[in-house]
Amino acid sequence: SKIVIAIDGFSSTGKSTIAKQLAKQLNYIYVDTGAMYRAVTYFALEQQYIGEGFFKEEALIQNLDSIHITFKFNPDLGFAEVYLNGENIEAAIRTLEVSKYVSPVATLSEVRRKLVEQQQLMGKDKGIVMDGRDIGTVVFPEAELKIFMTASAETRATRRYQELLGRGHQLSYEEVLENVTTRDHIDSTREDSPLVKAEDAVEIDNSDLSIETQLDRLVFMAKT
Ligand code: C5P
Repeated sequence: SKIVIAIDGFSSTGKSTIAKQLAKQLNYIYVDTGAMYRAVTYFALEQQYIGEGFFKEEALIQNLDSIHITFKFNPDLGFAEVYLNGENIEAAIRTLEVSKYVSPVATLSEVRRKLVEQQQLMGKDKGIVMDGRDIGTVVFPEAELKIFMTASAETRATRRYQELLGRGHQLSYEEVLENVTTRDHIDSTREDSPLVKAEDAVEIDNSDLSIETQLDRLVFMAKT
């Protein structure tokens, strides 16, 4: 029978790569919750509620009802892309700018409450792989399988740097490393739903593991 698989961990641990492939193998739905926090951040940047040196938290909170996040499966890509009020923002949310402001936005309880509610609805029929920071602790504390992914900060920054370069972004490795470590710090020390390993989560350090090895392990765990 179908289960809920929660995959949490620090930034750029390769959670989404693994989660996507795992969902495909199991014929499950995959939900990238980071994309939802990024969508809210994209909206906040667009409306100028946040930017260099300012964050109008109240304005963002008051306008949360104007944010409609949906996912639509793209058969060419093999996964669901994220939409904000009907606009495909899958590529637009992967910039270093959105990455820079997403963790402060994700500290707001009102934002988290809205997104967690939507995430719980998406997983109510099980058969779902969800990745994020609080899936095994807050969104689905009853998930049948919980994974906590880790890797060294350098490994993670290198991965994210290569990924952004591949998408044609101009930036330095140092900027990326700084972003990854800053986000990890904010995510782990915020008051509401900090990033922590759920007690019953299986920890996987994938610094030296291939995608195939990780996938084999996860498929095995999901089926037993
Ligand atoms: O997974 P991704 O790196 O795209 O997530 C972006 C940011 O969104 C994280 O650094 C974190 O601040 C926030 N986030 C969160 N809770 C989640 C998923 C993401 O706070 N479940």
